[in-house]
Amino acid sequence: MKKALINIDYTVDFVAEDGALTCGKPGQDLENTMVSLTEQFIRDGDYTVFAVDVHDKNNPYHPESKLFPPHNIRGTSGRDLYGRLQETYEINKNKENVYYMDKTRYSAFAGTDLEIKLRERNIEEVHLVGVCTDICVLHTAVDAYNKGFRIVVYKDAVASFNQAGHDWALGHFEGSLGADVKEFEDK
Ligand code: ZN
Repeated sequence: MKKALINIDYTVDFVAEDGALTCGKPGQDLENTMVSLTEQFIRDGDYTVFAVDVHDKNNPYHPESKLFPPHNIRGTSGRDLYGRLQETYEINKNKENVYYMDKTRYSAFAGTDLEIKLRERNIEEVHLVGVCTDICVLHTAVDAYNKGFRIVVYKDAVASFNQAGHDWALGHFEGSLGADVKEFEDK
């Protein structure tokens, strides 16, 4: 079965100590796994997507404006991928199986061409990593489920600023979305 990796929102604003909406240490602790996992997918020729939140400053129409402090503002360094993942992306960004895409909602499928990209490659299984487990990873997983994709979530490559939400979401992936929730094995 053809698979794709969806790297969700592993950016400076969501992960770094001084990030605008940071998961803090639980997010920072994923760095090595995020990098090894991403490198493995790219090396194996699997489709590797970076789905990265983008917001415009002072946008009164965006529902998140009322919910969260400004984050991942277009053109700011807060939108850079965190730590060594940025370097991994830079080195590989011109490869045919690497795709960087903006998203403006929690789900990587909302208002994007992600589904088209996956369908045209006959990809049936999405592997999800990134932050936050119970927000953007969750909403992407729910959409993937409704669209009929099989789902794998790496529990050592997702994190949240809300530990209770993180734990709940891992159970939901498995119990309600039929996802395979497992640890990453480096090859
Ligand atoms: Zn956002």
